[in-house]
Amino acid sequence: MALLITDECINCGVCEPECPNNAIFQGEEIYEIKANRCTECIGHFNVPQCVEICPVECIIPDPNYQETQEELESKYQLLNPNKAEN
Ligand code: SF4
Ligand code: SF4
Repeated sequence: MALLITDECINCGVCEPECPNNAIFQGEEIYEIKANRCTECIGHFNVPQCVEICPVECIIPDPNYQETQEELESKYQLLNPNKAEN
């Protein structure tokens, strides 16, 4: 599933450049994740990079965007059409 930034976000901004899918942006109040671009880092890394780096651990699975591993892999392929499957 896509991930969600909770209102505990302190707007430090360190997660934004870590996202390989450019899914993170500064919203009106806190940083936000575009669900249609978040693959939980599948295809790029073994663990979600934003979760790894967030100093306040405010990035959680988004219950509104439940996705299987296969669906996340398909999303990765759509976002990265020039990368060969491996
Ligand atoms: Fe980006 Fe990965 Fe975080 Fe999703 S889990 S927002 S793809 S860094
Ligand atoms: Fe917010 Fe965490 Fe991202 Fe910092 S790393 S902007 S606290 S979500």
